Amino acid sequence: MMKTSVDKRRVCVIGAGTAGLCALKNSLEAGLDAVAYERGAEIGGTWIFSEEMPKDEFDEVHSSMYEGLRTNLPKEVMGYPDYSYPDDIAESFITSNQVLEFLRSYAEHFKLKPHIKLQHEVIRVRPRLDDWEVYVWDHSTDTCDPVYYDFVYVCNGHYTEPDIPDVEGLDLFEGKKMHSHLYRKADKFKDERVLIIGAGPSGMDITNHVRVAAKQVFLSHHLSTAPNTAFMGNVTQKPDVQRFIKDGAVFTDGSTESFDHVMFCTGYKYTFPCLSTDVGVQVIDNFVQPLWKHCININHPTMAFVGLPFNVIPTHIFDMQVRFTLKFFTGQRKFPSREQMIADLEQEIGERWGCGVRNQKKAHQMGERQFVYYNELASIAGIENIKPVIHKLMKDCGKKYIFELDTYRSNKYTIVDDENFLKNGEAV
Ligand code: FAD
Repeated sequence: MMKTSVDKRRVCVIGAGTAGLCALKNSLEAGLDAVAYERGAEIGGTWIFSEEMPKDEFDEVHSSMYEGLRTNLPKEVMGYPDYSYPDDIAESFITSNQVLEFLRSYAEHFKLKPHIKLQHEVIRVRPRLDDWEVYVWDHSTDTCDPVYYDFVYVCNGHYTEPDIPDVEGLDLFEGKKMHSHLYRKADKFKDERVLIIGAGPSGMDITNHVRVAAKQVFLSHHLSTAPNTAFMGNVTQKPDVQRFIKDGAVFTDGSTESFDHVMFCTGYKYTFPCLSTDVGVQVIDNFVQPLWKHCININHPTMAFVGLPFNVIPTHIFDMQVRFTLKFFTGQRKFPSREQMIADLEQEIGERWGCGVRNQKKAHQMGERQFVYYNELASIAGIENIKPVIHKLMKDCGKKYIFELDTYRSNKYTIVDDENFLKNGEAV
């Protein structure tokens, strides 16, 4: 199907998770003709809990959701800027199902359903002279046809391809091995001795779940300040693993422990299997490049990636990136020259490396930087920034998943206005 000059500009959104839904909704509102392709049978991406496991080594299960998960951010910052969670949910830290319900209601509210094609998998995207050729596999008919688009939003999610470090002796270890991506229920670890590697949000939370069923849990990490796991009676903190042995591991402090099961909570790899090499983007150690402002493909600026930055407020950054890119896609703003975009990228990376973070894996890490980033997007494209109250509330939540793991989810936040919020009924 070729496009004609009288057609509306066409947008292809890959994925209908939190990011894809947002890209779809904003593209439609901007007057573009947008379609979201979702390979799964329903919308919601990683928030869909399923006990299904990969059938073979080539099969992939998308979601990393596990039983009993409650969010590590309050719902007050997890809504979209123009669509919040309903007030009738009392708690701030909610279940994965409540997030899924929210995403469904977002799609319903903005009438997105007619524009979403479920069980349609984008298997190849390649640039042509002045548009994109997108091959879509319709699972229900088992057919695959090319479709042509002016713009592409890549919203395929980043929590599907496990990143397991190459630790000496891992092949020698005769116990069970898994990555947090496929962790589903704690009772699988009943009466076992388990080593959990990594103290990020997943590592900390899964430790707290698994310890209830397990006989003993070792939590290996290299945080500069040890998390308070005093409330976890059967959890022993260990430094990094130096090498695995037949029935356990030797740690960098020289100690040895034996265990039945090792779980890697060591993060994920960014992968874009459907993008052909002539898309002009490469991923080296999770550094996706060359991108302008962490989202625009500098080699083909009609393609945008949504949601690469991490340690952020996901929904808000997705929404800002989409509104930012749409200003250019709709011609309201002109892209800087390719040279300028490269110079901007090099300057930012230079600053990051200059701050001592010479680690490709952290090229899209934000943390405190996110607020500078939001300001930049807002001022370059003339779009509304995130509200100060979201910024303030986010600051109040920082690192609580490590140091207040046993208590922080009982906090209840209430947004009063664009500037102020209450915590447990009191002004902060
Ligand atoms: P996903 O939700 O992964 O959606 C991507 C979609 O793209 C999927 O539906 C997938 O099927 C589809 N897709 C992929 N490839 C293709 C293709 N080729 N063709 C068609 N469709 C395709 N965030 C928070 O804000 N708060 C939290 O408390 C929180 N907790 C989390 C806990 C866990 C365990 C994990 C893994 C993540 C958590 N996050 C949390 C982060 C969360 O992933 C993001 O907030 C957000 O939901 C990611 O949305 P996404 O659309 O980028 O990706």
